[in-house]
Formats: sequence, structure tokens, C-alpha cells
Amino acid sequence: MATNKKPGNWKKRTLGVRAGTMRSPFQETSEALYMTSGYAYESPEEAQGRFTGEIEGYQYSRYGNPTVTMFETRMAALEGASVAQATATGMAAVSAVFLSGLKTGDHVVAAKAMFGSCLHVVEKILPRFGITYTLVDGTDNAAWKAAMKPETRMLFLETPSNPTLSIVDIKAVSKIADDAGALVMVDNAFASPALQRPMEFGAHIVVHSSTKYIDGQGRAMGGVILCRQDFFDNHLQVFIRNTGPSISPFNAWLHLKSLETLDLRMKAHGENAARVADFLGSHKKIKKVLYPFRDDHPQTKLARAQMDNGGGMVAFEVDGGKAGAFRLGNALKLIDVCNNLGDAKSLITHPETTTHQKLTAEARAELGVTAGLLRLSVGLEDADDLCEDLDQALKAI
Ligand SMILES: *Cc1c(COP(=O)(O)O)cnc(C)c1O
Repeated sequence: MATNKKPGNWKKRTLGVRAGTMRSPFQETSEALYMTSGYAYESPEEAQGRFTGEIEGYQYSRYGNPTVTMFETRMAALEGASVAQATATGMAAVSAVFLSGLKTGDHVVAAKAMFGSCLHVVEKILPRFGITYTLVDGTDNAAWKAAMKPETRMLFLETPSNPTLSIVDIKAVSKIADDAGALVMVDNAFASPALQRPMEFGAHIVVHSSTKYIDGQGRAMGGVILCRQDFFDNHLQVFIRNTGPSISPFNAWLHLKSLETLDLRMKAHGENAARVADFLGSHKKIKKVLYPFRDDHPQTKLARAQMDNGGGMVAFEVDGGKAGAFRLGNALKLIDVCNNLGDAKSLITHPETTTHQKLTAEARAELGVTAGLLRLSVGLEDADDLCEDLDQALKAI
């Protein structure tokens, strides 16, 4: 079994459909799902050779699996990374990078605007192992620089961020890390490699929750780590093999097949979200709309430099605070109230009472998570229907 075709100068849409495909002797066109935990060897000698590494091949699906390999190879091609490691969830990916790459005494600098569970790992779990941290306003390059210490080993950011869609300058932060011999990890879940490839701007490690846009249909959990060969060889591989956050071959297969349509879907998500953002921006009951490619976004220039379109996420603030936001949520007939994102179905959440509920009021205020803020993951329905649903629901406020 081998990779049948090798990417030459394939463009990203072709890579999404073709990269990493390995055909069995049956020459199936659709990638096979190898639902197996173990692999039989021809002989004890071969088993020994696989364990010493002298003979190439799979040993156990916690270590590797052909379907998972196809997913990883395709992801690496799309992000422009040397290696990819798939994981069971996005949080497994983030945690594995921190725990394999850091040790007691190390220091992390991270942007405050962070996915809730990532914040928990940085603030609550890492300090138990003597790893300290500083949180900064990710949009302030000087703040990143000022937070650096001699023991800083990793910088962590997500862009666009959850839920206020602030943009971090990947190139500037990567330069600060390079100057200090530290690594930058970028959570690229909101943009996906179809819209943003952080390694092109100097990021060392990219992580994904493939649960989101990569799956794209709200079906299965997964994560991916993309990094350079030396980080994989010296830190990640042995950690993953022995701690076991491995992805199920079934979930890897779903996400592999989803990559075939990622580029098309992200284009459609971006077109729909831009339409919805403009509709909301012109509505008198909306106080503020946040969308990276709108001219009124404070960092639209940087967003346009880093991303191919504005993505599928829109944040907006309604009149009437929490009561107004809840009235809107209750009146929606098409858009679902749900804290997930990156689905073909449009989903809306009220961050103050859901995803950001555990933060202090002060921390929420710093992030711009106000009582009237809603986060909308714009799906692939017809944009006219989405605007119509929002329009009728806004009448309830
Ligand atoms: C969902 C998400 C995660 C966590 O991923 P899971 O697959 O839910 O574990 C991390 N970062 C961002 C930005 C996310 O949206």
C-alpha cells in the first residue's frame, strides 16, 4: 500500500481532495476506513522489527492507523506543515502540545481572548506542574513583548478569537517568539487552513479542533496538531504514543472525507457570514457587529492580510442586554440555539451565560463579552432565509 499520487504543485482545493490518499490493492476511489486496533505480523521476527523500527509499518492504533495517516497527511499538506498528529478532540491537541513541550519552571504567554477550556488548561492545570503564565491583550504586540521572560518557552493565541473575533498579528508575535527562542502555537479552529495558514506567517505549531469547520457537519469530535519534524521527534510523538489521546479511525475518516469540501464550504460560509453581518450592521436594534472583513472591524486590515475571507463567525450586540438577547434566541425559527460552531446549520449562542459563564464579570468585560452579545456561527443555508429569520426574531426585542 502506498500513496498513489504525489502532490506536485497542487493548489489547496486539489490538496483537500487528493493529498494523502493511500489505496489498498482493491484500488478503491474513496479512502478506506481501517477500523482496526491491531495489525498482524508475518512472523515474530517481523513483529520484533516493527518494534525496533527497523521494519516500517503499523503496530497498534494508539500509535498509528492508515486512515488516521491519510487524514494527517492531508492536513499537513493544507497547512504547509512538516508533520501532523491527529487527536481525539481539539482540547487533546492543545493539552498535548503544552504538556509535551513544557516542563516545570517554564513560562507561557497567552492571549486573554481564548477558548474557555484552553484558558482552564493555562490557568488551572499548567501551574500544578510548576508552569507559570502571563495573559495579555492579544491585539497589543507591545504587551506580548513586555510579557516575555527568560523562561518563556511558548506563546499561545487564537485568531480570530472566540467570541469577539479579535485578530492577532501572527507574524509580529512569531517574531517575538523567535527572538526569544520560544515557540508560537496558533489555534486555527475559527479560520481553518482553507482561510488561514499560520505557518506562512512564522507560527511554529498549529492546533485545530477538527470538530468544527473541518468536520463541518457537526458529527464527530477530533483535533490536529501541526508542527515541525524536530518538535514531533523530540516532544510530541513519544507523549502521544504513551498517553493515548489518539483519534478513532472512524472520526478520522469522517474528517478526512470532509476535507474534500473544506475549501468550497469555507468560501460559502464566508459569503453567507458577510451577507448576515451586513444585514445586522444595518439593523436599528443592533448596537454593534463584529466581522473581520467588515470595514468597521478595528483590525480589518490585519484580517485581510492573514485570511482569505472573513470566515463564518459573526458576533453582534443587541439592544436590551441579556433580556434582549434571550428574546431574540427564543424567537428564532431557523437558527438553532447551540454553543457548537462550524456546522452547516447556523447556530447561535449567548457567551455570557454559556461559553464564558465561568469567567469573572471583570474578565468578561475585558474581553468585550457584554450581556447583549451573541455569537452566530453562520451555516450553509440560503443567506436570505438566515437574514429573514433574524429580521423576524429582532422584532421580538
Ligand atoms: C472547540 C474549540 C476548541 C476545543 O476543541 P474540542 O474539539 O471541543 O475539544 C479549542 N479551540 C477553539 C477555538 C474551539 O472553537
